[in-house]
Amino acid sequence: MTQSILDLHPRDWPQHFVDLGYKKFHGRIAARWVFQRGIYDWQQMTDLPTALREQLLSTPLLDTELVKASHAEDGAHKVLLKLADDSLVEAVCMPGSKGQTICISTQVGCGIQCGFCASGMDGLKRNLTQSEVLQQAFWLRREFGDFHRIVVMGMGEIGHNLDNVLGALDCLIDEAGANFSGRRITVSTVAPKGAIAAIANFGKTVQLAISLHASTDELRQELVPGIHDRTIEQLLDEAEDYFNITGREFTIEYVLLSGVNDSLEQAQQLADLLRNSRCHVNLIPYNHIDELDFHYPDGKTCEAFAQRLKDNSFSVTLRQSMGKDQDAACGQLRRRTIGLDV
Ligand code: SF4
Repeated sequence: MTQSILDLHPRDWPQHFVDLGYKKFHGRIAARWVFQRGIYDWQQMTDLPTALREQLLSTPLLDTELVKASHAEDGAHKVLLKLADDSLVEAVCMPGSKGQTICISTQVGCGIQCGFCASGMDGLKRNLTQSEVLQQAFWLRREFGDFHRIVVMGMGEIGHNLDNVLGALDCLIDEAGANFSGRRITVSTVAPKGAIAAIANFGKTVQLAISLHASTDELRQELVPGIHDRTIEQLLDEAEDYFNITGREFTIEYVLLSGVNDSLEQAQQLADLLRNSRCHVNLIPYNHIDELDFHYPDGKTCEAFAQRLKDNSFSVTLRQSMGKDQDAACGQLRRRTIGLDV
């Protein structure tokens, strides 16, 4: 795959521009246009020499193609992007009280193959490059404006593509890049071996969310089959190390699946399991996917589950899934579009 300038850290752009025959400051100017001003067309960077801009035209900044933008009644927007090898990837922008949150993907498909998730249904095709991770954020900004938060919770597992995803986040957080606060970035992982440690030692502060989804090892192995060699206890030990290294609490993500993991007994098991963890629990009622045999639990069941955790002194959020009418469950838009003439 051809390397894009977005695979380089903006810190390295000055030297790259020297290699092209220009000055270091041209690299700094270009990085500012891209990361801070949201301009992705070389021709609009009017303070770069004309000859340089013309030279750069052969390497467009956005080398992905916007296939489709869809809009849900609740205000969520979704983009489907076609990559250079014709793979499809999706990213979402959701409104919030403090501004928009974007959700980006890390892989084409996913090898974890959680039983309730559309992204995993066809397995893993490949990892996204650093440039492709960044371009999701750039397309969303270009189409829907600035965003306040980034969540890395789209298609794929960050723990299987750490270098490229953490590289992209570093470009967004670094002063030479977008100077975006890492405290407003959440990375979600099912926690394959080494993922939590890599995020803890990343060197930039980001929020950690662990996708647990079950209160016993047996049920977790059924629902999250791609990491069957990990027990919940091992995972929570690593999460404790994350707290000790970063001083930050983490979030436990738990998708509520009707009749599968949403009983009061399971809520109590979860509370017992997390008793010594410094964490917040985020409950996510399932977003139904036609092809899969899981269902959205009713509101009373969700509230009772949340209340049981609160009764055990946990801080709990019961989240509303957004974008239900526009394929916003991860992997849905991509699946629906694959096979169409896009
Ligand atoms: S829920 Fe996440 S980890 Fe599981 S298959 Fe879907 S994308 Fe992969």
